[in-house]
Amino acid sequence: TSTATVSAVSSSKVPPIARPLAGEPEEVASNINYHAQFSPHFSPFKFEPEQAFFATAESVRDRLIQQWNETYVHYHKEDPKQTYYLSMEYLQGRALTNAIGNLDIQDAYGKALNQLGHQLEDIVEQEKDAALGNGGLGRLASCFLDSMATLNLPAWGYGLRYRYGLFKQRITKEGQEEIAEDWLEKFSPWEVVRHDVVFPVRFFGHVEVNPDGSRKWIGGDTVQALAYDVPIPGYKTKNTISLRLWEARASSDDFNLFLFNDGQYESASQLHSGAQQICAVLYPGDATENGKLLRLKQQFFLCSASLQDIIFRFKERKNENRSWKWSEFSSKVAVQLNDTHPTLAIPELMRLLMDNEGLGWDEAWEITTRTVAYTNHTVLPEALEKWSQSVMWKLLPRHMEIIEEIDNRFITMIRTTRTDLESKLPSMCILDNNPQKPVVRMANLCVVSSHKVNGVAQLHSDILKAELFADYVSIWPKKFQNKTNGITPRRWLRFCSPELSNIITKWLKTDQWVTKLDLLAGLRKFAENAEFQAEWLSAKMANKQRLAQYILRETGVSIDPNSLFDIQVKRIHEYKRQLLNILGAIYRYKKLKEMSTEDRKNTTPRTIMFGGKAFATYTNAKRIVKLVNDVGAVVNSDPEVNSYLKVVFVPNYNVSVAEMLIPGSELSQHISTAGMEASGTSNMKFALNGCLIIGTLDGANVEIREEIGEENFFLFGATADEVPRLRKERENGLFKPDPRFEEAKEYTRSGAFGSYDYNPLLDSLEGNSGYGRGDYFLVGHDFPSYMDAQERVDEAYKDRKRWLKMSILSTAGSGKFSSDRTISQYAKEIWNIEECRVP
Ligand code: PLP
Repeated sequence: TSTATVSAVSSSKVPPIARPLAGEPEEVASNINYHAQFSPHFSPFKFEPEQAFFATAESVRDRLIQQWNETYVHYHKEDPKQTYYLSMEYLQGRALTNAIGNLDIQDAYGKALNQLGHQLEDIVEQEKDAALGNGGLGRLASCFLDSMATLNLPAWGYGLRYRYGLFKQRITKEGQEEIAEDWLEKFSPWEVVRHDVVFPVRFFGHVEVNPDGSRKWIGGDTVQALAYDVPIPGYKTKNTISLRLWEARASSDDFNLFLFNDGQYESASQLHSGAQQICAVLYPGDATENGKLLRLKQQFFLCSASLQDIIFRFKERKNENRSWKWSEFSSKVAVQLNDTHPTLAIPELMRLLMDNEGLGWDEAWEITTRTVAYTNHTVLPEALEKWSQSVMWKLLPRHMEIIEEIDNRFITMIRTTRTDLESKLPSMCILDNNPQKPVVRMANLCVVSSHKVNGVAQLHSDILKAELFADYVSIWPKKFQNKTNGITPRRWLRFCSPELSNIITKWLKTDQWVTKLDLLAGLRKFAENAEFQAEWLSAKMANKQRLAQYILRETGVSIDPNSLFDIQVKRIHEYKRQLLNILGAIYRYKKLKEMSTEDRKNTTPRTIMFGGKAFATYTNAKRIVKLVNDVGAVVNSDPEVNSYLKVVFVPNYNVSVAEMLIPGSELSQHISTAGMEASGTSNMKFALNGCLIIGTLDGANVEIREEIGEENFFLFGATADEVPRLRKERENGLFKPDPRFEEAKEYTRSGAFGSYDYNPLLDSLEGNSGYGRGDYFLVGHDFPSYMDAQERVDEAYKDRKRWLKMSILSTAGSGKFSSDRTISQYAKEIWNIEECRVP
């Protein structure tokens, strides 16, 4: 039973919308001042940058709230179909620049802050990143929200309000150190707690059968899900949508005052601390059973709270004298699962419809399968979620009954209508009943229960259809789609590189490219125009200088803005092959050392930058971080070569750091083993910013290369269809390493970069097979073609005109990779929702 009271947006209860906030700098300054005085979070009479940031953010928030309320009222009146995006991760980054940019009030806020003795550029730096995600998947969710709002689509994001987001990375002599990231230490000016939006979420307990045969989940522990809403403004539109983040709370009844007064403090507040654990951290370590249980609780908590809210909103419509029927649910509600993490939305929706609302199985199943769609983000076997059946029975007994029933019905369907697939059932069914380790296969549950399943780049979607989900394709050929990822051009060009943006607007004679990114193709005709090239170069140079200052501040390393800025930033993972990059850098260093001074002068000076976090328990990834830092320490202090090569590890890579690095980049590395990176999205951000890519035919690289032209892309490496054969050959001892590869490894083993033992890391590249050996990621195979491609890069960079042309063509060819395009396709081809613009 739901105890929620949710603010009904009925016209009789909503106060009239206040007059729009004025936009003159004087009035803005007065509003900022007002917040500094009357929304106090600090001692009075202090207005340093930090205080100025919070007061400015609150002033901007006033405007957002106004638009937000109008959006709610409008949606309620129009009653459109709405999309609910369920994601365990959002990598929002900072919000201030984005908000004033989308609201188009930069000038007024810039001037107002000047009047108050501050610079907008300094104030925005005060904001902490909201890092409620790990990497690409979470950042994608955030780009999607921006596009949904900008396209005036009626949509919501649902997630969790983690107390500590992704850890802060510090680099020490030992390598990476993780520190808890307290993004809420002061408070977040962007979230609004909705004290009237509270739903109970149950864990454990048991199932009881009612006299009429219906079933009910009772007992166990109940925690409250409390909504915190974050406004998401669209670009130059009134539409402002919500990211609703749930926080777990115990109810006040759960505090045992008797025990507390008896001095038993821990027992008295046991239920409180249990509830607090649920949203304490993003991705609790899952090496222990407790860690696994907590992660599962988080997933269910998100799904249950969100679905109760969605059902509440659906039913609430009757307040407007609208009649409603359950059969209309899927024409009013679309639920998108961002990977399998929110899979429990499927059995939870079934449970709510059957056990709470009294629907029968068939009706509930029809509604569920017409409502839910699933996005797959990986084919890596270790990343495909499987939950222990025994843990699931304990934590969610009613859901396990439902999952069993879904599985049984699926099996019956195959046995009766598709006998040809019977032999495939062991891998197709949802419950893997292997007696050693019985598990629930979440991806299978998603595929069986969703009306659409999509991959995130064409190559990835093709692999899903040909391999991972091949057997299902013959049952439901229309279920499988591709939706190539995208990025928001607002954050990732317009706001992070105003210099380049202004030039683009000037030459295209319009700024409409910010929402119609295909217009960038209009730059192609200027690619060889000397005047345009000169402006392009000066904007890129300004961004490089800004980046060089940042690097100096953060790392103490001075880098030369005239060198080629070569960047690889992303999570540290063996499949992403930072090891290939650093071994290439090691080889380059060794050759530079062996060269005469004269020969060195003919080389292309390079600054190779790395950034990214290694999962705290991923040993080889942490060794890679250590190696990059050790190489940097030696190379950067070597007077013979350090004007030709620098190697820098940029600590604590996050969205704000990305916004600094990407505009200043000239070459970026997207060099995963083919077939392993589902899409990648930073590749799109770099290309959009006129950065050339060295990369494999993997993920969205394939489509980027198609769009910008193969002559503007430095391609190397095995293709996805060659990989299985190459691994086999390796296992059969047929691999012959390139001497350059051997030399780079040997040099590293020789202790050239310090006394740390790199043998275990390098051993992973040796041998023919075995755990941690056998070069599963084919670094050795791809090394020679990688080095050849790098030589082509060096040559191309020497010809400035040619390089500028390639850079311009990269930006010009990036139109496809707007998340506006991606979201329009989801809206049309999966969600069946339409624009609902606030007048
Ligand atoms: N982490 C951050 C902070 C990002 O901004 C991005 C994307 O730009 C990613 C991770 C994902 O990067 P990639 O697509 O290279 O894996």
